[in-house]
Amino acid sequence: MALDIVDLVAGYGDITVLRGINLSVPAQGVVTLLGANGAGKTTTLNAISGLQASVSSGAIRLEGTDLTRMPAHERVEAGIAHVPQGRQLFPFMSVRENLELGSYAPRARGHDKDVLDRVFSIFPRLKERLRQQAGSLSGGEQQMCTIARGLMSKPRYLLLDEPSLGLAPIVVKQVMSVIRQIAGQGIGVLLVEQNVALALKQAQYAYVLEHSEITIAGPATELQNDDRVRKAYLGL
Ligand code: ATP
Repeated sequence: MALDIVDLVAGYGDITVLRGINLSVPAQGVVTLLGANGAGKTTTLNAISGLQASVSSGAIRLEGTDLTRMPAHERVEAGIAHVPQGRQLFPFMSVRENLELGSYAPRARGHDKDVLDRVFSIFPRLKERLRQQAGSLSGGEQQMCTIARGLMSKPRYLLLDEPSLGLAPIVVKQVMSVIRQIAGQGIGVLLVEQNVALALKQAQYAYVLEHSEITIAGPATELQNDDRVRKAYLGL
């Protein structure tokens, strides 16, 4: 039971960004994808969710279902939710309306109440702010709202792109705690993070993407002690 990326070659038009990467996200827990700016982390998430990036060879399989050539909305239906970098909420719509946009997929329709209850159990602050315009939430609350919107489609796998970006350390802690809760509830999380130390603390397994290829992979605890990771990404 996993989301498997097999020998994936992907990019944008004539530009190849990923040159045959392999990674696997189990149905529960956190896997993190690390790498320098421009290494192709966002492109990996885009290729999995079917947004922008195009796949020229290799495969994306969700528990045996081949997603590789599926349109993005069918991938949502299959159980993929992508929480993009930079929040991208609709600022003039209420928190409730933003959340409802996430439950548009048929797999979530008719389950609104159950899904909302589950989301509120993880994000109690959002319940208090349902009528508030999303643009008037604090940065941390907006990030929570973006992740909550991703959960509204009842995903089996959640792709998170830089959820800590631009947040104060205390808020980052809260976001990470939420991610651990989600991963403990039977959702496989693929976490892309600039903050390598933080990402390795949340994850059970980690991959490092360098020059379009996965160069290091292993249990997060091992990567914390890997000299290459310590030098290049932890400044040690
Ligand atoms: P960052 O941490 O800076 O977001 P990243 O590892 O997520 O970096 P990507 O955003 O996946 O990296 O970018 C990988 C490469 O693909 C970069 O060279 C980038 O310029 C290029 N790229 C990204 N998006 C597009 C696009 N829509 N069209 C063409 N090239 C793109």
